[in-house]
Amino acid sequence: MPNSPSRLIDPFGRHIDYIRVSVTDRCDFRCVYCMAEEMTFLPKSELLTLEELEIVCRQFMRLGTKKIRLTGGEPLVRRNILHLIRNLGAEVKSGQLEELTITTNGSQLEKMAEDLAEAGVRRINVSIDTLEADKFQLITRWGSLDKVLAGLKAAQKAGLQIKLNTVALKGVNEEELGDMVAFAGDKGFDMTIIEVMPMGDIGNENRVGQYLPVSVVRSRLEKRFTLTDSEHISAGPARYVEVAETGRKLGFITPMTHNFCESCNRVRITCTGQLYMCLGQEDNADLATALRGGGEAALEAAIFEAIGRKPKGHDFVISRRKAVNVGRMMNVTGG
Ligand code: SAM
Ligand code: SF4
Repeated sequence: MPNSPSRLIDPFGRHIDYIRVSVTDRCDFRCVYCMAEEMTFLPKSELLTLEELEIVCRQFMRLGTKKIRLTGGEPLVRRNILHLIRNLGAEVKSGQLEELTITTNGSQLEKMAEDLAEAGVRRINVSIDTLEADKFQLITRWGSLDKVLAGLKAAQKAGLQIKLNTVALKGVNEEELGDMVAFAGDKGFDMTIIEVMPMGDIGNENRVGQYLPVSVVRSRLEKRFTLTDSEHISAGPARYVEVAETGRKLGFITPMTHNFCESCNRVRITCTGQLYMCLGQEDNADLATALRGGGEAALEAAIFEAIGRKPKGHDFVISRRKAVNVGRMMNVTGG
């Protein structure tokens, strides 16, 4: 029933109809702003099975969820993930779900794009922070630009709509962002530029050094492109402009300089079944224990109880003394 309003309404009257599901905390990249190079991942025994993840998604759908985004870690490296994608994609085809989307680093797209499109995925977000091979390796530590570009090509051929996600990194890709906007326009991709968020300890890397305000990025881009504020509103937190020269949309996600919380319609579920009501807060609810202990009725009760304490918003700050506000890494709750 995609047109019926969500039954999940938080204390601030916001209807929750969008879930982001991190299907794994593992990844085949080690992006410098996201992870330390040496990572300890969750033991596989702690993960919800794909069947359990599906039960959780379906419970949310019964309560009014219309959009599901699969993320991670790298969602496409989880074993048999296509099984879950096909089952949820069938609900897009049946009209029960408006949209099933995926945020991916693109490393597996070359081989999986066709299957994703057949399964019912129409749009994907692909994270790419540079178009220079050496820099790409520097940022992702383990990734290959050629592979991701081949993945983008395959995704386009399969008919998937693509949005690029690019994190603005001071002194790293800041000079290149204009070229990336042009590249996106040339290929027919939308694009979102994201500020670094202070999540998780990333080892020797320093977020104070990485942080580049999107307001600065925008004013620099305005020297090269005509940007007009757009009325477009997506299910996500980006504010959009139209780029006159390319005819594409460009989004800015500014968690540090703009509070996007007033219209928040989403919650996040981790691969171990923790429900996070806000990306920027620690409070969570244990859906795994509810599901395993009391079945779907207990799961529903746990979801209602958790939505009842969704906070008004986050208060991220990057300062010289404090570059981590939330201990959880980005790969745990997904982007
Ligand atoms: N692995 C997939 C990918 O990279 O697209 C999905 C998960 S990743 C955590 C989702 C998004 O979060 C990516 O676009 C990534 O660039 C972004 N991201 C990761 N850590 C971040 C941070 N500390 N601040 C801002 N964005 C971050
Ligand atoms: Fe992996 Fe995505 Fe994090 Fe990069 S941003 S390390 S691709 S989860």
